[in-house]
Amino acid sequence: MSTAKNSDFLLEIKDLKKYYPVRGGFFRKKIGDVKAVDNISLELKKGETFGLVGESGCGKSTAGRTITRLFKPSDGKILFEGRDITNIRGRELRNIRQDIQMVFQDPYASLNPKMMVGSIVSEPLVNYGRGSEGKLKEEVMNLLTKVGLPEDAYYKYPHEFSGGQRQRIGIARALALKPKLIVADEPVSALDVSVQSQVLNLLKSLQKEFDLTLLFIAHDLSVVKHMSDRIGVMYLGNLVEVADADEIYRNPKHPYTKALISAIPQPDPRNKSKRIILSGDVPSPQNPPKGCPFHPRCPEAMPECSEKRPLLKEVNNNHRASCLLYE
Ligand code: SF4
Repeated sequence: MSTAKNSDFLLEIKDLKKYYPVRGGFFRKKIGDVKAVDNISLELKKGETFGLVGESGCGKSTAGRTITRLFKPSDGKILFEGRDITNIRGRELRNIRQDIQMVFQDPYASLNPKMMVGSIVSEPLVNYGRGSEGKLKEEVMNLLTKVGLPEDAYYKYPHEFSGGQRQRIGIARALALKPKLIVADEPVSALDVSVQSQVLNLLKSLQKEFDLTLLFIAHDLSVVKHMSDRIGVMYLGNLVEVADADEIYRNPKHPYTKALISAIPQPDPRNKSKRIILSGDVPSPQNPPKGCPFHPRCPEAMPECSEKRPLLKEVNNNHRASCLLYE
């Protein structure tokens, strides 16, 4: 059983859903839902890094954007520091955005190409009236230095930087308001492998310095491995396994997690583990399979898996999995 108290949590997600209506016919009547996020519950402890992983289309980015309230949840609850922020709007929502920031996958698309870097990074401070008049430039220069950019970056435009440097600008902008939570959505997947680890190391050191809680979204388990205290694996809008990072790599329970881990390249050729190849693609979230959503692809599926839906349950200390093998 977890020993964490509610006051240890910065963020609590309860039965969160994000559905998109599907319309059809002459009158564009609702004929179904795309269940992008389907009933996920998780908690983030203050100061931890939680890695959220899964194949593309599993709903992890939608979950991130719903948690930050960029998207409106369809159902469920989001508690931030114990406060229900699920349906807040207007000024309340604007205020909470100071504490919850996002870093996006494509740094170029998320930066205004017509603005100088100094203006991009100072924009949140100006919008929230947080930068003191004479000190704003100094504060922004300080942030640029902290993310490893030269001070003259202040006067340059995004196109004058490499992909890794642009992501550093995005990180500086996200840090400007000194948020408590950063949701980083695939922050290194658009970058060259050679600069990925630099940006990951930067995020790690800034997390300590700024006392941040980090929700780190990635499709690649090897990327979240070095970043995360705990990891949640998503499949078809559901969380299928949650455990401490070491535990999930050493002792994966869910067959989907086992397959993802088997795909991580091993640096030591003597450590050859057999790669589990999953058949087929992720099914449509508009029409998820009955029973366990993973059963059409599961190498360990049993007859009852196509009928009964497993629940996310504790299978070990602080280790939860949704699989009928453990019920
Ligand atoms: Fe596989 Fe069945 Fe477990 Fe689903 S419930 S993951 S199909 S063994």
